[in-house]
Amino acid sequence: MGSEDIQYYIDGVLSRNRRVLSKTITLVESSLPDHQAMARNIIERLLPETGKAIRLGISGVPGVGKSTFIESFGLSLIGQNYKIAVLAVDPSSSRSGGSIMADKTRMERLSLEDRAFIRPSPSGGTLGGVARKTRETMLVCEAAGFDVIIVETVGVGQSETTVASMVDFFLLLMLAGAGDEIQGIKKGILEIADAIAINKADAHNIQKAQEARQEYENALNLLRPSSSIWRPPVLTCSAVELTGIDEIWETVLKHRQQLMATDQLDQKRKKQAIDWLWSLVEEGLKDRFYQNQGIMTQLPGVIKAVETGAMPPSAAADKLLFFLDKKGSV
Ligand code: GDP
Repeated sequence: MGSEDIQYYIDGVLSRNRRVLSKTITLVESSLPDHQAMARNIIERLLPETGKAIRLGISGVPGVGKSTFIESFGLSLIGQNYKIAVLAVDPSSSRSGGSIMADKTRMERLSLEDRAFIRPSPSGGTLGGVARKTRETMLVCEAAGFDVIIVETVGVGQSETTVASMVDFFLLLMLAGAGDEIQGIKKGILEIADAIAINKADAHNIQKAQEARQEYENALNLLRPSSSIWRPPVLTCSAVELTGIDEIWETVLKHRQQLMATDQLDQKRKKQAIDWLWSLVEEGLKDRFYQNQGIMTQLPGVIKAVETGAMPPSAAADKLLFFLDKKGSV
């Protein structure tokens, strides 16, 4: 890995060579400084070829039917000649040792399709780390010519918000029988959804699904609309009986049309890019802090001094941060 030159990766990605695509993503996910430098170089060169895909986020609790839905949805899109990539953000995988999402065979039929590319969540520690890799992988997949990028996440910690901040459209999958559950769903999650779909609305379950739909519509009506041009609809679907799937795709396209007609897609992506820049800067500053030899040498003594009251926290912070300045000025 890594012995090939940059051009090898660029040519391979642009010609959608799956092996090279996978190797490139492995570079993106690697924590070795050499690999990271190479990945950065490759992405920079690929950048002019990115940005054309429809970026779609999908979330929902384990068992709601995400992988079944993505398989049905993805196969339907492939039937319409789209090429799709499925990525995942699952920061739990490195913490618990076992991924919530990867512990079973997922999307078996979709994974056999030439027009589909499925990449599991990178195992990369923090949500920030996993998200960075997924964003960059998304760019690589766009350069490879995938038309639709689906980023899937389970609602661990802040992962829904993180995924919503990297996609054009965020779909929340829910189950019927909601009623009281509406109270229990994570605060904020309804605000970031561009649509809600009640899954498992099979023929025998359709009435309950319609009731749930009403409940969620009422809940959404109580919220202040986050956009002046888009009211998130509540839909129903059955990922198993393949009903409602096409309506969801139509909703994605309609949302896109509306955003584009008002120049908001471009604005949304620009804002996302700037937000990402700042989160990388913050992450980078933190890394530099913890990797600074001077700081690490002083840290135990400074902590002790604050604990015993010998030094006020503000002076202690100044003393530590001084080492960053010192490094920066050489
Ligand atoms: P995930 O954990 O969110 O990825 O959920 P899965 O896709 O693994 O689905 C969990 C279970 O729900 C599986 O047994 C699926 O077969 C089932 N399932 C998913 N979608 C539907 C649906 O629309 N109707 C029914 N009846 N079952 C479904």
